[in-house]
Amino acid sequence: MTPVTCMRGKRLALFGLGGSGLATARALVAGGAVPICWDDAPASLEEARREGFTVEDLRESDWRQFAALVLAPGVPLTHPKPHWTVELAKAAAVEVIGDIELFGRERRSIAPGSPFIAVTGTNGKSTTTALIAHILREARCDVQMGGNIGTPILALELPAPNRFHVIECSSFQIDLAPSLAPSIGVLLNITPDHLDRHGTMENYSAIKERLVDAADIAVVGIDDAKCVAVFDRLRRRMGHESPMPVGRLVHEGLMSGLVGFAYADAQILEIHGGGTDPKSAARSVASLANIPSLRGEHNAQNAAAAFAVVCCAAFKAGISLSNSAIAASIKTFPGLPHRMEEVGRSGSVIFINDSKATNADSTEKALLSFESGIFWILGGKSKEGGIEPLRPLLGRVEKAYLIGAASEEFAATLSSGKIAHESCGTLELALSHAARDAAASGAEEPVVLLSPACASYDQFKNFEERGDRFRDLVHALISQAQAAGRISPALRERTGGAAR
Ligand code: ADP
Repeated sequence: MTPVTCMRGKRLALFGLGGSGLATARALVAGGAVPICWDDAPASLEEARREGFTVEDLRESDWRQFAALVLAPGVPLTHPKPHWTVELAKAAAVEVIGDIELFGRERRSIAPGSPFIAVTGTNGKSTTTALIAHILREARCDVQMGGNIGTPILALELPAPNRFHVIECSSFQIDLAPSLAPSIGVLLNITPDHLDRHGTMENYSAIKERLVDAADIAVVGIDDAKCVAVFDRLRRRMGHESPMPVGRLVHEGLMSGLVGFAYADAQILEIHGGGTDPKSAARSVASLANIPSLRGEHNAQNAAAAFAVVCCAAFKAGISLSNSAIAASIKTFPGLPHRMEEVGRSGSVIFINDSKATNADSTEKALLSFESGIFWILGGKSKEGGIEPLRPLLGRVEKAYLIGAASEEFAATLSSGKIAHESCGTLELALSHAARDAAASGAEEPVVLLSPACASYDQFKNFEERGDRFRDLVHALISQAQAAGRISPALRERTGGAAR
């Protein structure tokens, strides 16, 4: 835990006790502060009381006593309208912050130079964060990973000179961290998202920009227009301390004369600043071919960014870490559950769990990762636009297996695209039919892909439960197939084929 000593003796209002809320309360108390806790959910209040925290309805509180309102990132700060606690804080001129801000202040007070890597972007945050942490751990560094992934930031070990904090930051968390200033800031990409909570694209983009703007070293993806604008602004402002670009190997204008990293054809390339043509100034430093946890071009962006960050982090910390050592660590990255996770193989058939793909954008990345032979399980609670944006990629699909509420809507798109499909209703039936068809297809490496392009709530608690179920079903199916394979042909004959 990171005790928040910089708030010692102060009283703080703390709203939102699920997720990171209780971890924040613990860290505040451990540092000598007094959090006054509240939540809308009675079960959360009960848990806070059980732990001995002061629980008080903040509507009734005298807000002049509070040094700050610490808000959970899921609670609206500005849009669609500020939460009532935010209004009360504003009226009493009390600042509104989150747990990442508290961590940043504590770091500045106890270990200001400690390595603090903060990762944001619309997509790829978790993968990149986990990959950076993995590479640093393989290099025997002391690594603490958390924030928006896994462990809440204040539940991690406290900052120390040689301890690397690798922290995933959502836009909500950055919005609650006004003085966030990591030693390395990473911005992967910006595409429209969470506009209900940030109002406009400009606001959303400005929040993300703040993370790299305040960083000692900025690593910025340059594959979308918003990020290119951020990169250009940083370049103008920072002068010789240029931000480090990461992008596809096509950005002649942008990359010329710069040092950075690129990706192309499943390679990570180092651009070493000479000349105006990045291709002639590029040198391959790692291959991403045959790394199951990093399939697809989107993961090449994540891996190139992670490579860039680790190089900068090692340089800053005075650690000698060769390109080949980083490349070797990337190869052993186990990946994250539910994101293009290979959950099994049976014969030549690969089974992929991409349950995290809850919209067409994410499923697009999955379909782009395989050129053909896809036996695609999809459906659930449909998002606006359904799978219409995926039309150009439907040719890669051998057959689709529909589950859940969106079946009829998706069947219409598939029919008009002349793609074979069947409505299976449940995940169980879809998997069994997809596995059977894939095995019989004769394709070189058929893929049974769960990438639903839908929320899961019509049939599952969340995407994790859906993906866990898929993984369990695949394992059961493979065990059955193996058991059948172990049965001798003679026995199979005697049981009339029942023992298959
Ligand atoms: P996040 O933490 O930002 O949600 P994840 O690493 O968990 O991102 O990946 C979630 C999904 O986002 C993936 O399954 C994939 O569909 C998509 N994705 C991942 N990385 C990228 C990227 N660099 N660009 C675009 N989409 C991506």
